[in-house]
Amino acid sequence: MHYRYAFTNRYFNLECRVKYGVILSNAYRTHYINELNGDMDGKEVTVAGWVHETRNIGKIVFLLVRDHSGIVQVTAKEGVTAPEVMKAMDLQKESVVVVKGMVKKNQQAKLGYELSPISVTNLNPLSAGIPFEVTGKVPADIDVRLNYRYIDLRRKETTAIFNIQSSILRGFRNFALKNKFEEIRPPSIVEAATEGGADLFSIDYFEKKAYLAQSPQIYKQLAVIGGMDRVFMAVPVFRAEKHNTVFHLNESTQMDIEMGFANHDDAIFMLKEAFGSIIDSVLESNKEDLETLGINLTKPSIDVVAYKDALKKLSANGSRIEFGQDFSREDEAILTKEYGEAVIIKEYPTSIRAFYSMPNEKDPEISNSYDLIYKGLEISSGAQRIHLPKLLEEALTKRGLNPKDFEFYINAFRMGAPPHAGWSLGLERITMKITGSSNIRECTMFPRDRDRLTP
Ligand code: ATP
Ligand code: MG
Repeated sequence: MHYRYAFTNRYFNLECRVKYGVILSNAYRTHYINELNGDMDGKEVTVAGWVHETRNIGKIVFLLVRDHSGIVQVTAKEGVTAPEVMKAMDLQKESVVVVKGMVKKNQQAKLGYELSPISVTNLNPLSAGIPFEVTGKVPADIDVRLNYRYIDLRRKETTAIFNIQSSILRGFRNFALKNKFEEIRPPSIVEAATEGGADLFSIDYFEKKAYLAQSPQIYKQLAVIGGMDRVFMAVPVFRAEKHNTVFHLNESTQMDIEMGFANHDDAIFMLKEAFGSIIDSVLESNKEDLETLGINLTKPSIDVVAYKDALKKLSANGSRIEFGQDFSREDEAILTKEYGEAVIIKEYPTSIRAFYSMPNEKDPEISNSYDLIYKGLEISSGAQRIHLPKLLEEALTKRGLNPKDFEFYINAFRMGAPPHAGWSLGLERITMKITGSSNIRECTMFPRDRDRLTP
């Protein structure tokens, strides 16, 4: 339902179109294309978008005009349409236009109606060639599409992925806010490695050297030590890993939580909730996008399996994995086959987890850590953290790291740090698995990998 809504206050005197509580812009259109229908026969409307296709058969000129919501056919006929309008319809594909026209029922048109043009305005005549077919008639190479991501985004399949990504973030936030987590903003510029890892990008920071953060780990812990019982964040992280795989980016986005007075089982419970909320959010908002991508998304149940038990299953399936090794991609595929689409593996060997993972009280060889594997790929890692300074020093020493280098971090645990736990979910990884993409670059609007720094 469209209606006009006038609101006035001290600063504004505007008349706005409002639909379902959403304020629309008036300057260039009266309708989005998917708002048009055959019942509007005879109504004058204005749409704005891009020329998707053109066809000129002399006495009749067709334009398919596309906005983010859909495509409509604009049909001009000699003798019916004014000659200057016919002429204005001589446009190249991907020209950006405003079309004012009359909705006309027409059984021959694909939608059962079309637009009879009254005026066609080219807003910004093309002055460069379009690098590939937006219609998808000629498939384009991923590198070319990424070089011209702003053109690639005009493809329905690409938009579908980022519509879904938006819902994933919303599903995560919905979960966090519903469960009383507060959103925080950790810094991206840090003085030293927080995870003891070497894969950091260094930058010049005035007279000093600094690094881009590879994780918000330490800062979310400090927030919880500070008494913010539950925190969450969705932030960019930077990893200077040189490998070039379809699962890794050098800049990616983590959705993280950390909670105080909690152990790994509490955090695992939250991870299941967050994952469920994310799937719900996509199912609720992205029916058409999933259809566009040909994905039948369902909400899986999630088993929680101990690493040792998973190992037995893997050995029975011919894997050569031994205690103390991380799962290979092949192992992850077997786990999916055995336990279903989504499974949480917990209690990994302490030696293969980050130093701050809490060793298990009963068996310090294993840690209170866990991963969520979805459709054969690790999408999340988490753990109860070591909150006891002595234990932290030991863990660092065992890994050949010098506790002195972590003094700032360890010191925070000497001032009343409660037990705490949390996890991190990779936004692009989960987007990949939900959208059925085979390359993580498809799920990052402007990916950064070893070879790509633009656009
Ligand atoms: P992997 O072993 O698969 O390389 P990781 O265990 O090193 O990942 P974590 O430190 O656990 O990664 O990071 C948390 C989450 O962030 C991962 O579960 C994953 O979803 C995502 N992630 C990690 N590294 C990358 C990356 N380079 N590119 C994209 N996403 C990543
Ligand atoms: Mg991990």
